[in-house]
Amino acid sequence: MFQLPALVALTQQLKRNARLEAALNLLDWDQETLMPVGAARSRAAARGELAELIHRRYSSEEFGRLVAAAEQVAAAESDRRAPAFVREVRRRFDRRTRVPAELAEELARVTSEAQSVWQRARAANDFAMFRPYLEKNIAVRRRMAEHLRAPGQSLYDALIDEFEPGTKAADIQRLCAAVRPGLVALVQRYGPICALARVDFLSRSFPPATQRAFGELLLRGIGMDFERGVIGQSAHPFCTSIGAPSDVRVTTRYRDNDLKPALFGIIHEGGHALYEQGFAPAEEGTPLAEAASMGIHESQSRTWENIVARSRPFWRHYLPKLKEAFPGTLDDVDVDTFLRGINVVRPSLIRVEADEVTYNLHIMLRFELEQRLFDGTLPVAELPREWNARMQADLGITPPNDTLGVLQDVHWSTGAFGYFPTYFLGNLYAAQFYETAERELPGLAAKIERGQLAPLREWLRERIHVRGAITPAAQLCREVTGRELDPAGLLRYLEQKLGDIYR
Ligand code: ZN
Repeated sequence: MFQLPALVALTQQLKRNARLEAALNLLDWDQETLMPVGAARSRAAARGELAELIHRRYSSEEFGRLVAAAEQVAAAESDRRAPAFVREVRRRFDRRTRVPAELAEELARVTSEAQSVWQRARAANDFAMFRPYLEKNIAVRRRMAEHLRAPGQSLYDALIDEFEPGTKAADIQRLCAAVRPGLVALVQRYGPICALARVDFLSRSFPPATQRAFGELLLRGIGMDFERGVIGQSAHPFCTSIGAPSDVRVTTRYRDNDLKPALFGIIHEGGHALYEQGFAPAEEGTPLAEAASMGIHESQSRTWENIVARSRPFWRHYLPKLKEAFPGTLDDVDVDTFLRGINVVRPSLIRVEADEVTYNLHIMLRFELEQRLFDGTLPVAELPREWNARMQADLGITPPNDTLGVLQDVHWSTGAFGYFPTYFLGNLYAAQFYETAERELPGLAAKIERGQLAPLREWLRERIHVRGAITPAAQLCREVTGRELDPAGLLRYLEQKLGDIYR
């Protein structure tokens, strides 16, 4: 808690702004879960009005004066977090105020058009329909990046910086190069073995109401607090906070004859929720109760979804409960069979359905294409051809059409360039954090096997969650694990796991 008046004043203003943001977040949550379609136009108008008000608050001269006054005294504050806190507020203020208002409005306009065209283009398998809108999105993002970039940053770096502060494309490039050969080798080694694994039991009949109840059991198991959280349903699963840590929400979707999407989707979102519920309550509305980066956020969801919930100890505890929930459905499935079925490594077309190994190759493809779209070496017209060529080279398969290829992801239609690499970074951070947790929590696997997930959750909370956004991701990694981000950790984790499951 800050003592100096300038810091107290800045904190109070941040909290007031956050109350308006909470209203906007609630409108968004409602839009994705319950809003009737007929309300789309009036909802968009309400959102726009509120978003403008929030933007004005955060970019006003008055707010700028509060930031400057806090900067003057931060070093003298007894709470040692003050300089980093103010640096974060300044970073956000600069990002908001450097882009001219007309350009920000143009982005909102072109991306909202592009999104609806993308939906139609994807359904019709018609890249040519989407192409001019994608070109416009890229052009507007380039102009924004011109305003945002710091000395030494490329345009693409400036876009990555929004999601992964301090990380450059060159850093990601280096990490990709370090793990790609190992990932390709894993696919070649385990692909043929996995092709023999039984997966039939995952597509039996699983009534959605029971899937929902089991999902809640799992989220309670990993420690999501339902006094401060709810589970909803939406077309695409997500986690959002109305205000973190006091109101954190997740959604999932259910398929009658496929257990995996809801099961792993809800644990994934639950991992995100644990992060946001783990922020310090007194700091709500400030950078002390926000994520360090999207990569760190993703490391939390993937820790729970992949490292914990696709592991042997976890299913030794939960498979009997799953069988109990769906009586008679999984009688012929033991833990080994179940594990092999949920850990199949197989090149596939769709990123969101990919396994833990090939997923990273899907991201590398997108990352490299984005880099070239922004350095001007890849015209949008050539994107489908390049996409397919890379799929063939990396995964050995060519999409039969653009719907299952270059049109599959929503990101580019929303103008979110530079977001994809955060998924890959999340996998790397998750593996390295978990190695450290295993070292510092003796008997962790045995605890998980007994259903005791609190020790891991509390470790993550204490080491990562409560620190909020004021420790940059790279520094957080060094402080939590004692080392720079080392891509070899992901390969060690995957090799050990697949070796154990498919031995
Ligand atoms: Zn996620």
